[in-house]
Amino acid sequence: MDLSVIIPFYNEAKNIPIIFEELVPVLEATGQSWEIVAIDDGSFDATFSLLKGEAEQRDHIKVVRLRKNFGQTSALSAGFDSAEGDIIITMDGDLQNDPRDIPPLVAKIREGYDIVSGWREKRKDPFFSRRLPSLIANKMISWVTGVKLHDYGCTLKAFKKEVTKNIRLYGELHRFIPAVASWMGVTIAEIPVNHRVRKFGRSKYGLSRTIRVLLDLITVKFLLTYSTRPIHVFGLWGFLSGLAGFALAGYLTIQRFFFSIPLANRPILLLAILLIFIGIQFISMGLLGELQVRTYHESQGKPIYYIKEIVEKKGALP
Ligand code: UDP
Ligand code: MG
Repeated sequence: MDLSVIIPFYNEAKNIPIIFEELVPVLEATGQSWEIVAIDDGSFDATFSLLKGEAEQRDHIKVVRLRKNFGQTSALSAGFDSAEGDIIITMDGDLQNDPRDIPPLVAKIREGYDIVSGWREKRKDPFFSRRLPSLIANKMISWVTGVKLHDYGCTLKAFKKEVTKNIRLYGELHRFIPAVASWMGVTIAEIPVNHRVRKFGRSKYGLSRTIRVLLDLITVKFLLTYSTRPIHVFGLWGFLSGLAGFALAGYLTIQRFFFSIPLANRPILLLAILLIFIGIQFISMGLLGELQVRTYHESQGKPIYYIKEIVEKKGALP
């Protein structure tokens, strides 16, 4: 199988007939083998029966129905798990993405990129509630993660299979796939894509998503930088804090014993104690983190590195 297109649907009944009308001819025209994996994310309108109808009438369509509404990230994850294509394409089910952008994305993957991300250069969403917060979030994400994209939130993306198979998603993390995958050492490209106004149904998100995205950003940053060595982040701060605490305590001890300066009325004594305690706490947290990391990687057989290729002289092995 060459291409798998994954589309999450949550109460998108009106959009379903149109999206298949638009998408199927585009996929046929590529001349490659393809499938559409449609996820019904616990919709309570006609979404499922319409998807089922499409799957019964057309070939190459798989519908995965989730038991309840798990959210877009989980829906995409369900899609990744059942997709069989070598190239995985994700898009929204609300017609805001344009299926005609798929061939250029695929072409870019064939050029050798591991991830190609769509960039909604002329985004058709309200300014204050959507475009402005997303502008700020995008700047922050690229600054914090070091993965330079204009538009992390665009669902229209293409991936090589290896990328989606090696990534586990939680929370609202789907927009961070390029950032999380950058840890594997992937190559990422971005191309401008068309974006359209939502005609039917309503957006499932509001302003509060920005806050959730920023919280996820903290997780991602931590995972990217310290996931295999938590003692380095906690231990460093714990060490510095403990050191400062001991220095202060030593200074107070000398004052007390050699210069008979009383300690009872010195708030700085509390600071010394606090710093020592924080130091011990942080170092212990770092050590617990180290245990966690070992459990995480070893229990799931997760590698701490990814190989691109191995080259050796034929016949070199005995
Ligand atoms: N979606 C989903 N589960 C959810 C929320 C959204 O599967 O809990 C789907 C939704 O049906 C749509 C896509 O995710 O196909 C993007 O959602 P939406 O258009 O509401 O997001 P926006 O474009 O406003 O960011
Ligand atoms: Mg939308």
